[in-house]
Amino acid sequence: MKVIDHITEFRAAMRAFRQEGKSIGLVPTMGALHAGHLSLIKKSKEQSDITVCSIFVNPIQFNNNFDLENYPRQSKKDHELLENVGCDIVFSPGLDEIYPNKDVLSMCFEPIEEVLEGEFRPGHFSGVGVIVAKLFNIVQPDQAYFGQKDLQQVAIIKKLVNDLNFQLSVVVVPTVREENGLAMSSRNQRLNTEEKEIAAKLYQIMSIAKRDISEGGSIRDVILRSKSAIANLVGMELEYFEVINSKSFEPVEVIDSSDEVSICAAVFVNAVRIIDNIYIKTSS
Ligand code: AMP
Repeated sequence: MKVIDHITEFRAAMRAFRQEGKSIGLVPTMGALHAGHLSLIKKSKEQSDITVCSIFVNPIQFNNNFDLENYPRQSKKDHELLENVGCDIVFSPGLDEIYPNKDVLSMCFEPIEEVLEGEFRPGHFSGVGVIVAKLFNIVQPDQAYFGQKDLQQVAIIKKLVNDLNFQLSVVVVPTVREENGLAMSSRNQRLNTEEKEIAAKLYQIMSIAKRDISEGGSIRDVILRSKSAIANLVGMELEYFEVINSKSFEPVEVIDSSDEVSICAAVFVNAVRIIDNIYIKTSS
């Protein structure tokens, strides 16, 4: 496995692979890797000749300095994990190379960015759009892999690819969870064992909500019940809990036969922000 920190060297390596007719899979990450990230790498390896994992903690997608400063960083361990799953190239550019100009452009993803993550993290999706567009331009992948864990991010990336004519396919990989149901996340490192057990209750509440809605329960009532279950949990604070159309992110009140519907939620456990979602219904 090669670790490349500079854009020029990276582009040269990619050119050589492309000349050999190799297909390229890209897995963008912010490091502090776990089994969720590694499932994206494995999927890329199944579908691509060369798998690139980018590691870059992107400051412009953080709307909270505390979160940015406390974001876990562990490059040695990340490299070991990536080597073990057979990643071909780690691309870990420096901040100055990615953002030589401090006044980088903004991107607007209305109306999707106005709700859920976008509402509670102003500027977040602009930052995601800019870094992912930069990575697409630098890496020029044939496939790019993203986790269902960040469902709204997937919608943003698909819009980016469509609207800017990037020639690549976006592959969405299911959320990897701990045994207790907690969605794996780099930020979970900031939770102790007891807090992780509390955090896992979010998935239990979402699963009960999914069951109740699938059995015909009123979506409005189910949301109210779920919110009050979260409010009654010591150690968990609610940010949002919504049932939405998985493509438009508009709220869903009644499920009709054509809808793709998901539950999306965000909570805090000991100042650590946890987001999760589950599909209630997919089109396939
Ligand atoms: P991050 O490093 O948090 O920016 O995540 C990098 C990629 O890994 C994103 O596409 C995430 O959606 C994906 N990812 C993060 N956690 C998980 C998980 N538990 N299961 C599957 N994919 C994940």
